[in-house]
Amino acid sequence: MVQGCGSRRESTIVALAKFVLFRIGALTFHQFRVLSAKEGMDSRTSFTSVCINTALYLPWLVSQCLRNGVSFQRKVIQHICDAKKASSDPLTGKVDLIVNFTGLGANKLGGVQDRSVIPARGQIVVVRNKSDRIIGTSGTDDGDDETCYVMTRAAGGGTVLGGSYQKGDSNSQVDLNLATRIMQRAVRVCPELTGGKGIEGLDVIRHSVGFRPLRIGGTRVDKEMIDGTWVVHCYGAGGAGYQQSYGCAQDVMHLVDQALNARARL
Ligand SMILES: Cc1cc2nc3c(=O)[nH]c(=O)nc-3n(C[C@H](O)[C@H](O)[C@H](O)COP(=O)(O)OP(=O)(O)OC[C@H]3O[C@@H](n4cnc5c(N)ncnc54)[C@H](O)[C@@H]3O)c2cc1C
Repeated sequence: MVQGCGSRRESTIVALAKFVLFRIGALTFHQFRVLSAKEGMDSRTSFTSVCINTALYLPWLVSQCLRNGVSFQRKVIQHICDAKKASSDPLTGKVDLIVNFTGLGANKLGGVQDRSVIPARGQIVVVRNKSDRIIGTSGTDDGDDETCYVMTRAAGGGTVLGGSYQKGDSNSQVDLNLATRIMQRAVRVCPELTGGKGIEGLDVIRHSVGFRPLRIGGTRVDKEMIDGTWVVHCYGAGGAGYQQSYGCAQDVMHLVDQALNARARL
């Protein structure tokens, strides 16, 4: 569990809701109190929540799958129905159903080609400096596509300073001017990161760029029959794939059951 803190010019409730929903994926919510506003901020809130360290969480999920009998095959496919060849049952040679979790790939994947899926570019700086709390703001003075958050990873892995949310931008190169603004904003909202030494006191591990699989209109979770096989789609979660994952997985299971039951009745 970590202590989180959000601040901004908006109402406390809006700022808090955005921070919880879009930044750290709160699973529990123990504390809520309004603090005195910092200079340049209308309000600040503080609460206790959960921070997922994805570098640990994803291998753990894979281990859970293996433990429960899942087998993995890595292949790039051009058409969704190629998944039938990639993973057919060794006994029957048949695939009952395909689940499509291809994220940004859904834009180009044959049989799907959903052009409303676009990248939302996120640039971060990972540093060795630590903060004893997560901090996020609900906006910045540097434009709608720039964000400000500080997250020290649980169980090691540095502190993530963010960031950006640049819709439609697929540039994988680090923008050093943006990196400087990210670091400046981070030490402004969290001076204890460098003991008041400013960005010169940051010990940078790496700069990084990632692409959120944003679907205009929201995550697609539904099913359709393609070339005689049921396909359950679940893609386009944008910047909330981890937060949404449990709810999406439940919906996918429901759709899979529906499709297999419908098939059984045929
Ligand atoms: C900087 C940044 C910050 C973020 N912060 C948060 C956060 O605070 N909270 C949160 O919940 N989320 C956050 N996210 C978003 C989160 O990472 C995504 O929502 C999530 O990873 C989406 O998962 P997914 O499985 O749907 O798609 P992906 O993780 O993109 O997985 C899709 C997979 O499909 C594979 N694939 C695609 N096409 C094909 C093909 N043709 N053949 C074979 N394989 C294919 C890809 O290789 C990939 O492995 C952040 C993302 C970034 C970049």
